[in-house]
Amino acid sequence: MSDKKTKVILSGMRPTGKLHIGHYVGALENWVSLQNDYQNYHLIADYHTLTTNLDTTNVYDDSIEMAIDWIACGIDPVKSPMFRQSQIKEHTELFLLFSMLITKARLEKNPTLKEQIKDMKLTGIIYGHLGYPVLQAADILLYKGNMVPVGEDQVPHVEITRHIAGVFNEKYKMKDGRTIFPMPEPKITQFARLPGLDGKAKMSKSLDNTILLSDDGEAIKNKMKKAFTDPDKLRKGDKGNPDICLVYTYHKKFNPEEISEIREGCTSGALGCFDCKMKISSKISDFFAPIREKRNELEKNKNGVLEVLIDGEKRAHEVAKQTMSQVREAMKIG
Ligand code: ATP
Ligand code: MG
Repeated sequence: MSDKKTKVILSGMRPTGKLHIGHYVGALENWVSLQNDYQNYHLIADYHTLTTNLDTTNVYDDSIEMAIDWIACGIDPVKSPMFRQSQIKEHTELFLLFSMLITKARLEKNPTLKEQIKDMKLTGIIYGHLGYPVLQAADILLYKGNMVPVGEDQVPHVEITRHIAGVFNEKYKMKDGRTIFPMPEPKITQFARLPGLDGKAKMSKSLDNTILLSDDGEAIKNKMKKAFTDPDKLRKGDKGNPDICLVYTYHKKFNPEEISEIREGCTSGALGCFDCKMKISSKISDFFAPIREKRNELEKNKNGVLEVLIDGEKRAHEVAKQTMSQVREAMKIG
């Protein structure tokens, strides 16, 4: 076991439907590459879905689908337990205690919340949505996460987690004087915020501007045709500006070997947007083809996937119980 393996990674996603390529490049790819060197825990944040949708009809199915996506992308659940937040009661207990350690004003300052309010045109904010990062702090610290691989939008939440860990450690210590919680660090990828097909800064399910991991070549092409490009480049021959084009960002990630040709073709006008879009569609489709194949296999054995989660839940629960008994001891409650 390497030294790093003693360091813990905690990262999760909300089961709000099928995953998109933003989830992959912003988080999942990082999880896969880190799993051999760190002890990873992967949380299916089912309680967190309630912050933006009270309809729970699909939460169970979406949780299974997400586990399928994770395994298909290369997460090994034997090394890295995967579990549903709702199955481990300690999350809610720690959330309650942590909610006493942060002010409403601090939570209202959260830029990710402000962005969600704007994007989703929310007129009021529910208490649980305001407190979303506090539950996230409990998710991370229950497993004593040292590192949290996330997209850019989640970085303010990791800062809130650090704030809460700091306040707790200052106030409550173990009998021997040790503090309980580490100060987790965010770890972001190069594509920490993949833009959406409509040109919005973030590819997001709720903005309906996504390419799904399960989309096949045809579906990707059809979506890509409508993708937003440089508005001054109307036809082949017009000179374009790749730096404001999201299709170019996709080329950077999924077609790096041809990136200088694409740039040259766009700026000189020799490459039309349609051809550029078709090229990247094939690249994205090829990139995710093995993942789609694995996905289709796993779809045939959903009971097996549920068993993987139940096993992950048992292992995660052991860790969660230990942390909570330290917390109760330090706080002299229970
Ligand atoms: P959606 O709005 O599509 O439902 P989300 O932001 O609600 O996505 P979460 O479950 O909150 O999804 O986030 C899962 C992880 O994926 C987080 O680490 C988040 O930063 C990352 N992520 C989501 N969308 C993107 C994106 N467009 N680019 C990079 N990372 C992303
Ligand atoms: Mg989501």
